[in-house]
Amino acid sequence: MASDALLFDVGRRKPTTRDVADLVKSGGTAALTEADRRADAATYQEVTCRSALNPVKGMPFNWTLNPYRGCTHGCHYCFARRYHVQFEMNTDDEFASVILVKKNFVEVLVRELDRPAWSREHVAFGTATDPYQPIEGHYKLTRGAIGALARGRTPIGLITKGPMVVRDRDVLGDLTRAAGCTVYMSVPTVDEDAWRTLEPGTAHPLQRLRAVRELVDAGIRAGVLMAPIVPGFSSSREKIERTIKTIADHGARFVGCNVMYLQDGTRTHFMKFIEREFPSMLPRFEKLYVKKYPPDWYRKEVQAMVKVLQARYGIMRRDEAETTPEKEQIEPEQVGFAW
Ligand code: SF4
Repeated sequence: MASDALLFDVGRRKPTTRDVADLVKSGGTAALTEADRRADAATYQEVTCRSALNPVKGMPFNWTLNPYRGCTHGCHYCFARRYHVQFEMNTDDEFASVILVKKNFVEVLVRELDRPAWSREHVAFGTATDPYQPIEGHYKLTRGAIGALARGRTPIGLITKGPMVVRDRDVLGDLTRAAGCTVYMSVPTVDEDAWRTLEPGTAHPLQRLRAVRELVDAGIRAGVLMAPIVPGFSSSREKIERTIKTIADHGARFVGCNVMYLQDGTRTHFMKFIEREFPSMLPRFEKLYVKKYPPDWYRKEVQAMVKVLQARYGIMRRDEAETTPEKEQIEPEQVGFAW
């Protein structure tokens, strides 16, 4: 099979993600014999990408960038788990332990940004995988891509849970001046139990918030996404208030939130995880997640609570404030729920 030759011929072109999927389909991830197993127990498979900018439909942006696939952060709620089946890998351990590295990512991106037809539309960076994987310290693909985007005057919004983003404040600053850049640090909660349980491979939430402060101090527009808020783990009023207060204390420029949704392989993984680790919670999750999202009333309660607290701690987004004239009238008592 052609893909076998690509994997075994050291020094030749790296396999494409399709080659990797074919190989894994025939022999499991053990067939990735050229992959590099690191001390963090993850396996890194270099691949060749044909394109870097990925067009998407039905989102608030038209283009995404993801130098890696799979994520060692291994959050149990991660919506991107379901994408790993594209590579014939499972949404459980293999999502967090087999990382595809698009070795030629930066050079492909540079070519795409240089095309006369490129319209310099806003690009969402890190939508399918955190772009600050630990191995980014070695490959520097995210850093190289940000530099290319600055030279190509293309604005981005970058989402991450990785404090390593501070390393790149110089190129993020270049991009801010050249085209515009927003860093969305994902900190769903500062509650240590919830963090340890739900995000086993991520940096401590306070470390992430210190990174936000450093970025803001460097002149970069950086804020926090409390996403997702996970019912039963990080949804109590006390935890949400503590999180928003801590975010405000760290100088975040804005805060946004969303309640967890579960779809396809992500749903399967999360429910298995709950059944295994917290069996008594399973019936409540099954009731709350009959569909992809919990019922509207639940999401509205969470969002109302967050709005109240954003206003209290002075970090409501200006655009939200302008479009929510009744914001001050939402009473905290209206949004008291336990789960
Ligand atoms: S850091 Fe982001 S991409 Fe990685 S597992 Fe967590 S939610 Fe998914």
